[in-house]
Amino acid sequence: MGVKVVKFGGSSLADANQFRKVADIIKSDEKRKFVVPSAPGKRFREDTKVTDMLYSCYELVKSGKDIKDQFGKIRERYNGIISDLGLDLSLDKEFEEIEYCLKAKSGRDYAASRGEYLNGIILAAYLGYEFIDAAEVIYFDDNGSFMLDKTIEAVRERIKNVECAVIPGFYGITLNDTIKTFSRGGSDVTGSIIARAVRAEIYENWTDVSGFLIADPRIVEDPKVIKTITYKELRELSYMGATVLHEDAIFPVRTAGIPINIRNTNDPSAPGTMIVAEDNSEETSRNTITGIAGKKGFCAINIEKSMMNSEVGFVKKILDILYKNDLSFEHIPSGIDTMSIVLSAASLEGKEEAVLSQIRKEVDPDHLEIEHNIALLAVVGHGMYKTRGTAARVFAALSHARINIKMIDQGSSELNIIVGIGESDFEDAIRCIYSAFIDSAE
Ligand code: ASP
Repeated sequence: MGVKVVKFGGSSLADANQFRKVADIIKSDEKRKFVVPSAPGKRFREDTKVTDMLYSCYELVKSGKDIKDQFGKIRERYNGIISDLGLDLSLDKEFEEIEYCLKAKSGRDYAASRGEYLNGIILAAYLGYEFIDAAEVIYFDDNGSFMLDKTIEAVRERIKNVECAVIPGFYGITLNDTIKTFSRGGSDVTGSIIARAVRAEIYENWTDVSGFLIADPRIVEDPKVIKTITYKELRELSYMGATVLHEDAIFPVRTAGIPINIRNTNDPSAPGTMIVAEDNSEETSRNTITGIAGKKGFCAINIEKSMMNSEVGFVKKILDILYKNDLSFEHIPSGIDTMSIVLSAASLEGKEEAVLSQIRKEVDPDHLEIEHNIALLAVVGHGMYKTRGTAARVFAALSHARINIKMIDQGSSELNIIVGIGESDFEDAIRCIYSAFIDSAE
């Protein structure tokens, strides 16, 4: 029988009621044998995640303050879950040890990791699954880089005689025995690693939304869910600002061809989004595009020089200047005698004058300026590769909405079309492209 790895995010485990939903989901499919929990998240909008409470304990200790009250609140969160679930379990010993270690300055990552650790113990007890501490199996080297091969080996060895287990997300251990976490949201990464190690048939990532949405719901009203998306498309959309899954959660499963299914704990019958290596579904060919995402906060350095096209090494000189100023760029659209460098405005802050004067000195341009307040928008979809007229539809939609396009870039993969527009046009642009492609495909 195949095995499924299921990861539950913080809001899925925020209180006893959520724990019950999680247990129902797990018990409804006997393949769901390996469970990766996050720390308890927010129960309501103004609530605080346990991870953030733990970070604040760390900060309090660092500034010489007492953590009694703050740590007391953390105890209460867990004890509330335990008693509401009617569990015969005491974490008093663990609380004592953790409070002691926090006071003894065991480190920021150690502090944060305890949220998942404690939640894992409770969930394992509630499910009747074995608890495997992530510090036994997830390894980082002494520079803090994650060690995939050693980890896979350790997981396989550890679960040899284990049928079902809970393995907390977010952290592991370095070779010199220090607790280390992934970056925020890192339980997604743990889930993916465990899925790879146990050769899961699927990695289910349970959260509080029914999958990836085609566009940001704060901009488009009630956008549709993406049913299937390829790893590559996901990378493009995540890069451009769509968030649901930690970016590093892709690589462990990708090479093994294990699909990821984003699911909603609060609506378990919804199929969610499937993330796969290749997608030939009908839905995709009908819609042509998979998603739209974008970000504000870019600027463009516009350079004009007559006969630029015949000047060998022109672009190299410009790239050297970027390199020396530790700047990475997003796009370099170019014309015959013009080129623009689109880059994040934040990265250029404080360096503008230096960069401009170096460009003037190196290439002696006829015209040089920085254009501010640019937004980039990516229309992503592997279906556009086979379909004529996708670009025309994007540009027609923008033109009907009277939006001026400042830049166009279509990558060689033909997976996306990127347009640069004014920041004030950003929301309208997303809405008009959404309705041109998605509403018209009804
Ligand atoms: N609890 C951690 C965080 O809040 C990790 C996670 O939830 O994935 O970032």
